[in-house]
Amino acid sequence: VAKRTPGTSYTLAEKEFERGSSNMLEQEQALRAGIERGEFHLAYQPKVDAHTGALTSFEALARWNRPGFGAVSPLEFIAAAERTGLIAALGSTLLWQACAQIAQWHATYGSCVPVAVNVSPLQLLDPRFPQLVEQALEDHGVAPQWLTLEITESSAVQNLDQTVAQVAQLRALGVHVAMDDFGTGFSSLNMLRTLRLHTIKIDRGLIDPLPAPESIAVVRAICQLAQALHLHVVAEGVETTAQAEAARDAGCGELQGYLYAKPLSPHDAGQWLAQHTEHHTVIT
Ligand code: C2E
Ligand code: MG
Ligand code: MG
Ligand code: MG
Repeated sequence: VAKRTPGTSYTLAEKEFERGSSNMLEQEQALRAGIERGEFHLAYQPKVDAHTGALTSFEALARWNRPGFGAVSPLEFIAAAERTGLIAALGSTLLWQACAQIAQWHATYGSCVPVAVNVSPLQLLDPRFPQLVEQALEDHGVAPQWLTLEITESSAVQNLDQTVAQVAQLRALGVHVAMDDFGTGFSSLNMLRTLRLHTIKIDRGLIDPLPAPESIAVVRAICQLAQALHLHVVAEGVETTAQAEAARDAGCGELQGYLYAKPLSPHDAGQWLAQHTEHHTVIT
Protein backbone atom coordinates (compact mmCIF):
# COMPACT_ATOMS: atom_id res chain seq x y z
CA VAL A 1 0.00 0.00 0.00
CA ALA A 2 1.40 3.38 -1.01
CA LYS A 3 2.14 5.89 1.74
CA ARG A 4 -0.56 8.45 2.11
CA THR A 5 -0.22 12.11 2.82
CA PRO A 6 -3.28 13.10 4.84
CA GLY A 7 -5.30 15.89 3.35
CA THR A 8 -3.98 15.60 -0.19
CA SER A 9 -6.17 14.95 -3.18
CA TYR A 10 -4.23 11.74 -3.73
CA THR A 11 -5.69 10.29 -0.55
CA LEU A 12 -9.13 11.38 -1.57
CA ALA A 13 -8.82 9.86 -5.01
CA GLU A 14 -7.59 6.59 -3.56
CA LYS A 15 -10.50 6.45 -1.12
CA GLU A 16 -12.88 7.05 -3.97
CA PHE A 17 -11.31 4.22 -5.87
CA GLU A 18 -11.44 1.86 -2.89
CA ARG A 19 -15.05 2.67 -2.24
CA GLY A 20 -15.88 2.22 -5.89
CA SER A 21 -14.17 -1.12 -6.22
CA SER A 22 -15.62 -2.57 -3.04
CA ASN A 23 -19.07 -1.56 -4.26
CA MET A 24 -18.39 -3.20 -7.55
CA LEU A 25 -17.24 -6.37 -5.84
CA GLU A 26 -20.38 -6.42 -3.70
CA GLN A 27 -22.54 -5.75 -6.71
CA GLU A 28 -20.84 -8.52 -8.63
CA GLN A 29 -21.33 -11.00 -5.79
CA ALA A 30 -24.98 -10.03 -5.32
CA LEU A 31 -25.67 -10.26 -9.06
CA ARG A 32 -23.88 -13.57 -9.40
CA ALA A 33 -25.75 -15.05 -6.43
CA GLY A 34 -29.03 -13.65 -7.76
CA ILE A 35 -28.48 -15.26 -11.15
CA GLU A 36 -27.56 -18.59 -9.53
CA ARG A 37 -30.62 -18.50 -7.25
CA GLY A 38 -32.95 -17.59 -10.10
CA GLU A 39 -33.97 -14.23 -8.58
CA PHE A 40 -34.39 -12.49 -11.96
CA HIS A 41 -37.77 -12.54 -13.63
CA LEU A 42 -39.54 -10.95 -16.56
CA ALA A 43 -42.61 -8.75 -16.58
CA TYR A 44 -44.55 -8.42 -19.83
CA GLN A 45 -45.92 -5.12 -21.10
CA PRO A 46 -48.51 -5.24 -23.92
CA LYS A 47 -48.19 -3.28 -27.14
CA VAL A 48 -51.43 -2.60 -28.96
CA ASP A 49 -52.51 -1.83 -32.51
CA ALA A 50 -52.93 1.96 -32.72
CA HIS A 51 -56.15 1.63 -34.73
CA THR A 52 -57.92 -1.39 -33.24
CA GLY A 53 -56.49 -1.52 -29.73
CA ALA A 54 -55.83 -5.25 -30.18
CA LEU A 55 -52.80 -6.80 -28.50
CA THR A 56 -49.93 -7.06 -31.00
CA SER A 57 -46.99 -8.18 -28.87
CA PHE A 58 -45.36 -8.06 -25.44
CA GLU A 59 -42.11 -6.48 -24.26
CA ALA A 60 -40.26 -8.54 -21.65
CA LEU A 61 -38.78 -6.33 -18.91
CA ALA A 62 -36.34 -7.68 -16.34
CA ARG A 63 -37.25 -7.55 -12.66
CA TRP A 64 -35.09 -8.24 -9.62
CA ASN A 65 -36.57 -8.51 -6.17
CA ARG A 66 -33.32 -8.61 -4.24
CA PRO A 67 -33.84 -10.36 -0.90
CA GLY A 68 -33.38 -7.88 1.92
CA PHE A 69 -33.29 -4.91 -0.45
CA GLY A 70 -36.54 -5.05 -2.41
CA ALA A 71 -37.07 -4.25 -6.07
CA VAL A 72 -33.98 -2.94 -7.85
CA SER A 73 -34.47 -0.84 -11.01
CA PRO A 74 -33.43 -2.65 -14.20
CA LEU A 75 -31.56 0.48 -15.23
CA GLU A 76 -29.35 -0.09 -12.16
CA PHE A 77 -28.81 -3.84 -12.30
CA ILE A 78 -28.38 -3.98 -16.07
CA ALA A 79 -25.70 -1.28 -15.84
CA ALA A 80 -24.05 -3.15 -12.95
CA ALA A 81 -24.15 -6.40 -14.91
CA GLU A 82 -22.50 -4.63 -17.83
CA ARG A 83 -19.76 -3.19 -15.59
CA THR A 84 -19.03 -6.50 -13.89
CA GLY A 85 -19.05 -8.69 -17.00
CA LEU A 86 -22.16 -10.56 -15.86
CA ILE A 87 -24.46 -9.24 -18.58
CA ALA A 88 -23.87 -12.28 -20.80
CA ALA A 89 -24.97 -14.66 -18.03
CA LEU A 90 -27.91 -12.49 -17.01
CA GLY A 91 -28.94 -11.86 -20.62
CA SER A 92 -28.92 -15.59 -21.38
CA THR A 93 -31.02 -16.37 -18.32
CA LEU A 94 -33.59 -13.81 -19.41
CA LEU A 95 -33.56 -14.95 -23.05
CA TRP A 96 -34.18 -18.55 -21.96
CA GLN A 97 -36.99 -17.41 -19.65
CA ALA A 98 -38.66 -15.45 -22.43
CA CYS A 99 -38.49 -18.43 -24.81
CA ALA A 100 -39.85 -20.75 -22.12
CA GLN A 101 -42.73 -18.30 -21.60
CA ILE A 102 -43.49 -18.14 -25.34
CA ALA A 103 -43.55 -21.94 -25.49
CA GLN A 104 -45.84 -22.10 -22.46
CA TRP A 105 -48.28 -19.56 -23.90
CA HIS A 106 -48.31 -21.49 -27.15
CA ALA A 107 -49.14 -24.67 -25.30
CA THR A 108 -51.83 -23.01 -23.14
CA TYR A 109 -53.54 -20.69 -25.61
CA GLY A 110 -52.76 -22.24 -28.97
CA SER A 111 -52.04 -18.89 -30.53
CA CYS A 112 -49.48 -16.38 -29.45
CA VAL A 113 -48.06 -12.91 -30.07
CA PRO A 114 -44.38 -12.03 -30.45
CA VAL A 115 -42.33 -11.24 -27.34
CA ALA A 116 -39.60 -8.61 -27.47
CA VAL A 117 -36.49 -9.09 -25.35
CA ASN A 118 -34.13 -6.19 -24.57
CA VAL A 119 -30.53 -6.76 -25.53
CA SER A 120 -27.57 -4.88 -24.13
CA PRO A 121 -24.90 -3.64 -26.60
CA LEU A 122 -22.36 -5.97 -24.99
CA GLN A 123 -24.60 -8.97 -25.63
CA LEU A 124 -25.36 -7.96 -29.20
CA LEU A 125 -21.72 -7.41 -30.10
CA ASP A 126 -20.67 -10.82 -28.75
CA PRO A 127 -19.90 -12.88 -31.89
CA ARG A 128 -21.64 -15.90 -30.32
CA PHE A 129 -24.91 -14.04 -29.74
CA PRO A 130 -26.78 -15.22 -32.88
CA GLN A 131 -25.94 -18.85 -32.01
CA LEU A 132 -27.20 -18.29 -28.46
CA VAL A 133 -30.48 -16.96 -29.78
CA GLU A 134 -30.81 -19.91 -32.13
CA GLN A 135 -30.11 -22.27 -29.23
CA ALA A 136 -32.65 -20.61 -26.94
CA LEU A 137 -35.34 -20.95 -29.62
CA GLU A 138 -34.38 -24.55 -30.36
CA ASP A 139 -34.33 -25.56 -26.68
CA HIS A 140 -37.96 -24.49 -26.37
CA GLY A 141 -39.20 -25.43 -29.83
CA VAL A 142 -40.11 -21.80 -30.51
CA ALA A 143 -40.27 -20.53 -34.10
CA PRO A 144 -38.12 -17.41 -34.64
CA GLN A 145 -41.03 -15.21 -35.72
CA TRP A 146 -42.25 -15.13 -32.11
CA LEU A 147 -39.08 -13.46 -30.88
CA THR A 148 -38.12 -9.81 -31.33
CA LEU A 149 -34.86 -8.36 -30.04
CA GLU A 150 -34.79 -4.72 -28.93
CA ILE A 151 -31.37 -3.23 -29.46
CA THR A 152 -30.20 0.25 -28.55
CA GLU A 153 -28.65 3.00 -30.59
CA SER A 154 -25.45 2.88 -28.58
CA SER A 155 -24.49 -0.53 -30.01
CA ALA A 156 -24.71 0.80 -33.51
CA VAL A 157 -23.04 4.10 -32.71
CA GLN A 158 -20.08 2.38 -31.06
CA ASN A 159 -19.57 -0.20 -33.75
CA LEU A 160 -21.71 0.11 -36.84
CA ASP A 161 -20.09 -2.56 -39.00
CA GLN A 162 -20.29 -5.22 -36.30
CA THR A 163 -23.85 -4.26 -35.43
CA VAL A 164 -24.90 -4.44 -39.08
CA ALA A 165 -23.35 -7.91 -39.35
CA GLN A 166 -25.04 -9.16 -36.16
CA VAL A 167 -28.43 -7.77 -37.18
CA ALA A 168 -28.05 -9.46 -40.59
CA GLN A 169 -27.36 -12.80 -38.88
CA LEU A 170 -30.35 -12.38 -36.56
CA ARG A 171 -32.58 -11.51 -39.53
CA ALA A 172 -31.32 -14.59 -41.31
CA LEU A 173 -32.40 -16.66 -38.30
CA GLY A 174 -35.89 -15.23 -38.71
CA VAL A 175 -36.13 -13.18 -35.52
CA HIS A 176 -37.24 -9.55 -35.68
CA VAL A 177 -35.02 -6.69 -34.61
CA ALA A 178 -36.23 -3.36 -33.20
CA MET A 179 -34.34 -0.18 -32.34
CA ASP A 180 -35.32 0.90 -28.81
CA ASP A 181 -35.50 4.47 -27.49
CA PHE A 182 -35.27 5.96 -30.96
CA GLY A 183 -34.78 9.70 -31.15
CA THR A 184 -32.78 10.23 -27.99
CA GLY A 185 -29.36 8.95 -28.97
CA PHE A 186 -27.02 9.69 -31.78
CA SER A 187 -28.20 7.42 -34.55
CA SER A 188 -27.84 8.99 -37.95
CA LEU A 189 -30.51 8.57 -40.57
CA ASN A 190 -27.95 6.77 -42.70
CA MET A 191 -27.39 4.27 -39.90
CA LEU A 192 -31.10 3.44 -39.92
CA ARG A 193 -30.90 2.66 -43.62
CA THR A 194 -27.79 0.53 -43.20
CA LEU A 195 -29.05 -1.52 -40.25
CA ARG A 196 -32.12 -3.06 -41.94
CA LEU A 197 -34.25 -3.40 -38.85
CA HIS A 198 -37.93 -4.33 -38.70
CA THR A 199 -39.15 -1.79 -36.17
CA ILE A 200 -38.25 1.44 -34.42
CA LYS A 201 -39.60 2.39 -31.02
CA ILE A 202 -39.94 6.12 -30.50
CA ASP A 203 -38.65 7.05 -27.06
CA ARG A 204 -41.03 8.17 -24.34
CA GLY A 205 -39.20 11.52 -24.29
CA LEU A 206 -40.67 12.34 -27.70
CA ILE A 207 -44.13 10.93 -26.93
CA ASP A 208 -44.54 12.63 -23.56
CA PRO A 209 -44.98 16.21 -24.93
CA LEU A 210 -47.71 15.09 -27.39
CA PRO A 211 -50.05 16.61 -28.55
CA ALA A 212 -47.88 19.75 -28.62
CA PRO A 213 -47.67 20.78 -32.31
CA GLU A 214 -43.85 20.68 -32.52
CA SER A 215 -43.81 17.18 -31.04
CA ILE A 216 -46.43 16.03 -33.52
CA ALA A 217 -44.20 17.36 -36.30
CA VAL A 218 -41.18 15.45 -35.00
CA VAL A 219 -43.08 12.18 -34.52
CA ARG A 220 -44.70 12.53 -37.94
CA ALA A 221 -41.31 13.10 -39.59
CA ILE A 222 -39.93 9.95 -37.91
CA CYS A 223 -42.96 7.96 -39.08
CA GLN A 224 -42.56 9.18 -42.65
CA LEU A 225 -38.91 8.22 -42.64
CA ALA A 226 -39.79 4.83 -41.18
CA GLN A 227 -42.42 4.27 -43.83
CA ALA A 228 -39.91 5.04 -46.58
CA LEU A 229 -37.57 2.46 -45.04
CA HIS A 230 -40.40 -0.10 -44.53
CA LEU A 231 -40.07 0.00 -40.75
CA HIS A 232 -42.87 -0.46 -38.23
CA VAL A 233 -43.17 2.26 -35.60
CA VAL A 234 -44.06 1.79 -31.92
CA ALA A 235 -44.70 4.78 -29.63
CA GLU A 236 -43.32 4.14 -26.12
CA GLY A 237 -44.60 5.55 -22.85
CA VAL A 238 -48.14 6.44 -23.93
CA GLU A 239 -49.95 7.59 -20.78
CA THR A 240 -52.94 9.61 -22.00
CA THR A 241 -55.58 9.26 -24.70
CA ALA A 242 -54.46 12.62 -26.13
CA GLN A 243 -50.95 11.22 -26.59
CA ALA A 244 -52.34 8.00 -28.06
CA GLU A 245 -54.47 9.83 -30.62
CA ALA A 246 -51.67 12.19 -31.60
CA ALA A 247 -49.19 9.30 -31.97
CA ARG A 248 -51.67 7.30 -34.05
CA ASP A 249 -52.50 10.29 -36.28
CA ALA A 250 -48.79 11.00 -36.75
CA GLY A 251 -48.36 7.47 -38.10
CA CYS A 252 -47.35 5.20 -35.21
CA GLY A 253 -48.77 1.73 -35.89
CA GLU A 254 -48.39 0.37 -32.36
CA LEU A 255 -48.67 1.97 -28.93
CA GLN A 256 -47.23 0.92 -25.59
CA GLY A 257 -47.59 2.54 -22.20
CA TYR A 258 -49.37 2.81 -18.88
CA LEU A 259 -52.55 3.93 -20.68
CA TYR A 260 -52.95 0.29 -21.78
CA ALA A 261 -51.07 -1.64 -19.13
CA LYS A 262 -48.06 -1.57 -16.84
CA PRO A 263 -45.59 -4.43 -17.18
CA LEU A 264 -47.57 -7.51 -16.05
CA SER A 265 -46.81 -10.78 -14.30
CA PRO A 266 -46.72 -13.80 -16.65
CA HIS A 267 -50.14 -14.80 -15.30
CA ASP A 268 -51.76 -11.44 -15.98
CA ALA A 269 -50.09 -11.21 -19.39
CA GLY A 270 -51.60 -14.65 -20.11
CA GLN A 271 -55.04 -13.17 -19.40
CA TRP A 272 -54.41 -10.50 -22.05
CA LEU A 273 -53.38 -13.22 -24.44
CA ALA A 274 -56.50 -15.27 -23.68
CA GLN A 275 -58.72 -12.27 -24.40
CA HIS A 276 -56.77 -11.57 -27.57
CA THR A 277 -57.17 -15.18 -28.68
CA GLU A 278 -60.94 -15.01 -28.09
CA HIS A 279 -61.08 -11.80 -30.07
CA HIS A 280 -59.14 -13.47 -32.86
CA THR A 281 -61.46 -16.48 -32.91
CA VAL A 282 -64.52 -14.28 -33.22
CA ILE A 283 -63.10 -12.38 -36.19
CA THR A 284 -61.86 -15.38 -38.21
P1 C2E B 1 -36.99 0.25 -22.23
O1 C2E B 1 -36.60 -1.02 -22.90
O2 C2E B 1 -37.08 1.46 -23.07
O3 C2E B 1 -38.38 -0.07 -21.51
C1 C2E B 1 -39.37 0.90 -21.27
C2 C2E B 1 -39.39 1.34 -19.83
O4 C2E B 1 -40.43 2.32 -19.68
C3 C2E B 1 -39.72 0.25 -18.83
O5 C2E B 1 -39.07 0.58 -17.61
C4 C2E B 1 -41.23 0.39 -18.68
O6 C2E B 1 -41.72 -0.15 -17.47
C5 C2E B 1 -41.36 1.88 -18.71
N1 C2E B 1 -42.69 2.31 -19.18
C6 C2E B 1 -43.56 1.65 -19.97
N2 C2E B 1 -44.65 2.39 -20.21
C7 C2E B 1 -44.49 3.55 -19.54
C8 C2E B 1 -45.31 4.74 -19.39
O7 C2E B 1 -46.41 4.86 -19.92
N3 C2E B 1 -44.77 5.74 -18.61
C9 C2E B 1 -43.57 5.63 -18.01
N4 C2E B 1 -43.17 6.65 -17.26
N5 C2E B 1 -42.78 4.54 -18.14
C10 C2E B 1 -43.24 3.51 -18.89
P2 C2E B 1 -38.25 -0.48 -16.79
O8 C2E B 1 -38.95 -1.81 -16.77
O9 C2E B 1 -37.90 0.16 -15.49
O10 C2E B 1 -36.94 -0.69 -17.66
C11 C2E B 1 -36.04 0.38 -17.87
C12 C2E B 1 -35.00 0.04 -18.88
O11 C2E B 1 -34.15 -1.01 -18.40
C13 C2E B 1 -35.55 -0.48 -20.20
O12 C2E B 1 -35.99 0.58 -21.02
C14 C2E B 1 -34.32 -1.18 -20.75
O13 C2E B 1 -33.45 -0.27 -21.33
C15 C2E B 1 -33.69 -1.74 -19.50
N6 C2E B 1 -34.09 -3.15 -19.36
C16 C2E B 1 -35.19 -3.69 -18.78
N7 C2E B 1 -35.17 -5.02 -18.88
C17 C2E B 1 -34.05 -5.35 -19.56
C18 C2E B 1 -33.46 -6.60 -19.99
O14 C2E B 1 -34.01 -7.70 -19.81
N8 C2E B 1 -32.26 -6.52 -20.65
C19 C2E B 1 -31.64 -5.33 -20.90
N9 C2E B 1 -30.46 -5.33 -21.56
N10 C2E B 1 -32.17 -4.14 -20.52
C20 C2E B 1 -33.36 -4.16 -19.86
MG1 MG C 1 -37.17 -1.93 -24.62
MG1 MG D 1 -37.60 1.87 -24.88
MG1 MG E 1 -36.68 3.76 -22.71
